[in-house]
Amino acid sequence: MSIPFIDLPAQRRRLGARIDQAIARVLDHGAYILGPEVTKLEEQLAAFAETRFAVTCANGTDALQLVLMAEGIGPGDAVFVPAFTFVATGEVVPLVGATPVFVDVLPDTFNMDPASLEAAIGEAERQGLKPRMVIPVDLFGQPADYPAIQKVADRHGLTVLADSAQGFGGRLNGKSAASLAKYTSTSFFPAKPLGCYGDGGAIFTDDEAVVELLKSIRMHGQGRDRYENVRIGLNSRLDTIQAAILLEKLDIFPDEIEARDRIAQRYNDLLKDVAEVPVVMEGARSVWAQYTILVDDRAKVAEACKANGVPTAIYYPIPLNQQGGYNMFPVAPGGVKVAESLSRRVISLPMHPYLDEATQDRIVAVVRGAL
Ligand SMILES: *Cc1c(COP(=O)(O)O)cnc(C)c1O
Repeated sequence: MSIPFIDLPAQRRRLGARIDQAIARVLDHGAYILGPEVTKLEEQLAAFAETRFAVTCANGTDALQLVLMAEGIGPGDAVFVPAFTFVATGEVVPLVGATPVFVDVLPDTFNMDPASLEAAIGEAERQGLKPRMVIPVDLFGQPADYPAIQKVADRHGLTVLADSAQGFGGRLNGKSAASLAKYTSTSFFPAKPLGCYGDGGAIFTDDEAVVELLKSIRMHGQGRDRYENVRIGLNSRLDTIQAAILLEKLDIFPDEIEARDRIAQRYNDLLKDVAEVPVVMEGARSVWAQYTILVDDRAKVAEACKANGVPTAIYYPIPLNQQGGYNMFPVAPGGVKVAESLSRRVISLPMHPYLDEATQDRIVAVVRGAL
């Protein structure tokens, strides 16, 4: 019997007829674009995130781009992004004409290193760029060190946009991680901790003025009505059907986060003597988008898993600064050695809230056998 990497059918069985009924209600009322479920979801997401506002959009990449557009980021501006992340974090920066500057990450949490950020700001200035924004990432579900990053950002007048595509639901020092930066973005791609049945995304903020701006930009830059266009925008709305699905899934999300945490702790206990297991910062709660260990002989572990029906994944095999589309952009002084080392040593194991102990034991036995 092969083991799924993420078991979405198990979640679907748990939700029973709820999703089908939610979709049927949308088909009945027919407001497919910005229907009542979208408004309701935005209210419930904001309450969950402990922010004043949530603005939904078409996907997590657009969520990042909408914020850069709302902040007027463009040519000559530097935006600081970790070198060790999914490509979308870096991709949106040249899309608005600005320059991404790659920052190294910390060896224990894999999240942005505040000291490397400080050095990268100096480098951007030397290259004649204007430091404007920083996009820390909540990699694999764990919040970045927002208090430390905010200090560096405040010293240099940077706006913080948290890329929490993997970290929605995470917490830091008793607060929702989505409430810590001026902007937090997330993704509802099916494999994310809170996923829909297609593409989706959202932005969280407490700033009422930018909410109107974000809503205008996601609707072709609309003004007072649909046919007045006061700025350049995108077509980036969350479908009503996806909102209806997310309302049902949000209801069980806190319980799923608990399950993920229990499963991750169990992996830690069973693997910590043979591999470097994930480290969660003091005061942080991860939502475990991935369970990722560090090993020296990754190929051996991957092969043993494959031979025994255990799926694994490498997030991410090439840091952004080494990607063909990105290797011309500046890098923090001293390089991004941690990102480069992690990309050679990481391997992610099956992780989802419905992973039972017997299946987890099978996975652990294969990994232990290889090591
Ligand atoms: C998934 C992801 C995104 C992009 O989300 P999409 O909804 O797929 O556009 C952005 N940043 C990170 C870190 C991600 O993991």
